[in-house]
Amino acid sequence: MGNERGGILLILLISLVVVIVLYFGLVVFLWIGVTNGTIGAAAQQGSIANINGNQSTIPLGRDGQSDTKAIDNEELDSGGAELVCVRLNGVGGARTPALDRRVARRMVGAINHIAAEGLAPLSFTWALRTTCQQRNVNPGPNLKARPGSSPHEAGSAVDVSGMSSRGDAGRIVRIMGAHDFIWLGRRDPPHFHVMPATIGEASFGAWIRKIQHLYQSGQPTGGCRGSECGS
Ligand SMILES: [Zn+2]
Repeated sequence: MGNERGGILLILLISLVVVIVLYFGLVVFLWIGVTNGTIGAAAQQGSIANINGNQSTIPLGRDGQSDTKAIDNEELDSGGAELVCVRLNGVGGARTPALDRRVARRMVGAINHIAAEGLAPLSFTWALRTTCQQRNVNPGPNLKARPGSSPHEAGSAVDVSGMSSRGDAGRIVRIMGAHDFIWLGRRDPPHFHVMPATIGEASFGAWIRKIQHLYQSGQPTGGCRGSECGS
């Protein structure tokens, strides 16, 4: 009698434990599924879609990572500074249309985003500057950073034409912001740059030294190099 009751209690207890384990297993399974779905979708929108509309001169990652796998920004940013050619409407001749690879990827994302919203394409006046160009450049009414301290010398900045006159300038600023570009506003309307911390650089000073060294070593190699001091 006692044994029988004990046996029934044991079976009930085991059944209860099995139900609880199955329940939590299902919850964890569903949660992982939802999380993966979200991450995959975000990565696709944020990076892979941009890369598909990319110029061939921008390496995706150090390992030539293809677009078949979800890759996040951190992975794409790893590998350090590198100067790459970017097609920037209006920049050419003596002015090298190049940016740091990590900035170039964001710039292509912004250009595609602007096209997707049906806005008129951006036109640019400057991207990378050598320190010699920074010394020589005539900023007109806009700000000019001391040579050795401009985000342009880090391949981090672009100057966009018409930011004081375009009716959609506010939308441009918002889209550029969504791709990590900070606008200096009225102080220097054409100017946008990506902050060092955003892509894992310690400071503009350190970033500029790397990029200027890379320029002196022959980067970018995509056939877009202008002249060192010309404008
Ligand atoms: Zn600028």
